[in-house]
Amino acid sequence: MHETIIVGGGLAGSLTAIYLARRGYDVRVLEKRSDPLRSPSPAHERTSSRAIGVSMNVRGMKAVLRAGIPAQELARCGEPITGMAFCVGGKYKIRKLTPLEDLSPLSLNRLAFQQLLNQHAALLGVKFHFDCKCINVDLEKKSVLVQEGDGGFRHHRGDLIIGADGAHSAVRQSMQSGLRRFEFKQTFFRHGYKTLVLPNAAELGYRKDFLYFFGMDSKGLFAGRAATIPDGSISFAICLPYQGALSLATQDGATLRAFFNHYFGGLPPGRRQEMLDQFVTQPSNDLVNVRASTFHHRGNALLLGDAAHATAPFLGQGMNMALEDASVFATLLDQHAHDLDTVLPEFTRQRKVQADAMQDMSIANYEVLSHPSVIFFLRAQYARYMHKKFPSLYPPDMAEKLYFDSVPYDELRRLQRKQNVWYRLGRMN
Ligand SMILES: Cc1cc2nc3c(=O)[nH]c(=O)nc-3n(C[C@H](O)[C@H](O)[C@H](O)COP(=O)(O)OP(=O)(O)OC[C@H]3O[C@@H](n4cnc5c(N)ncnc54)[C@H](O)[C@@H]3O)c2cc1C
Repeated sequence: MHETIIVGGGLAGSLTAIYLARRGYDVRVLEKRSDPLRSPSPAHERTSSRAIGVSMNVRGMKAVLRAGIPAQELARCGEPITGMAFCVGGKYKIRKLTPLEDLSPLSLNRLAFQQLLNQHAALLGVKFHFDCKCINVDLEKKSVLVQEGDGGFRHHRGDLIIGADGAHSAVRQSMQSGLRRFEFKQTFFRHGYKTLVLPNAAELGYRKDFLYFFGMDSKGLFAGRAATIPDGSISFAICLPYQGALSLATQDGATLRAFFNHYFGGLPPGRRQEMLDQFVTQPSNDLVNVRASTFHHRGNALLLGDAAHATAPFLGQGMNMALEDASVFATLLDQHAHDLDTVLPEFTRQRKVQADAMQDMSIANYEVLSHPSVIFFLRAQYARYMHKKFPSLYPPDMAEKLYFDSVPYDELRRLQRKQNVWYRLGRMN
């Protein structure tokens, strides 16, 4: 069977490794970070960008279960989600979610999930090389140049190179510089983000079965989201512009105090101070949208997950789509007798249209969540009412479809457009 090199041992890379190892592939994963099973200090991990709770919806869960990971083990990595809470003017507007399929989405501890994937991959014989950074890829020779932890360089060769190395993918960069007519667009959002973590979420009134959103009343200045993580903490992604009086660069105590008092005024003063202290010391991270014209090069190399289609996290789909990529790739291998020259172009054909739709919806949602919009809540209520009254005519609530269903993204985008037309018609009348 094909010898496969996966660059990037994050969520998409590790799940793909499991799918391939189950099909008898010889899989090597090259990961620039250290081994998550020999985790760094919990204090570091709690406030790193990897600590962010991510929401796994039915789409992502199905992809994980199809890879043979038992449901009980997955469930131990998170908490079921039953609703969303939007903080407006210091008060929460709650939107309960009603399951459409048997599976409940999870508010996931990313590190615990990564560890679960790595354990299963290792049991199946996947070889992980940690502290191993991809520097360059020769797409014709199918060879990856890496720098190892001791500073030395080494080549890894295989029959197939998979780039699962995230938004700033080195494999994709090799495609950009090495392939003719490879189109690529990278755009940064107005906001970047910092991760802040507060312990004892329950004491602060945060529910572990809710996702929290902040900043809809900030006139587009601030967008935040938060979810509890299984150690009982709550992790906030605080999204602000990169520059300006109030921005990720702000260090001025008075400005930051006013910000935390305004948007987190319900928290005890000591906890707001804790957030402020973390804000000053934590590094900021970028939010980027990446579009590539193709996800493959002949039968030699494939991009999946954020390497192919990174976007803003405000629809909560990046990881879910990345996991689904792994599952779709495995299905295509089975359908086409592992003929890579057929499977890889087919992967681009099927997934590019889905990635574009998912990104369009994420960007639209980012605009909604980072701008004031009482209408947002009215529209959601209206959509539910209309769908209940005229189920065959009026499309269902999008949030429920996204969280509890795994219909293709381009179909969801069509539904969303249909709803928008209905909504505009309603306003005209
Ligand atoms: C604040 C925030 C909140 C989010 N919330 C959600 C959510 O609720 N739901 C959801 O579905 N998605 C969410 N996302 C998106 C989600 O995190 C990503 O879509 C997902 O992590 C993509 O997985 P991946 O494996 O493709 O990439 P990554 O998770 O980025 O993994 C890439 C891996 O490659 C490694 N790597 C990178 N470069 C190299 C190199 N040169 N050599 C070797 N290794 C390399 C990295 O160390 C990493 O381990 C969120 C993102 C952010 C920023």
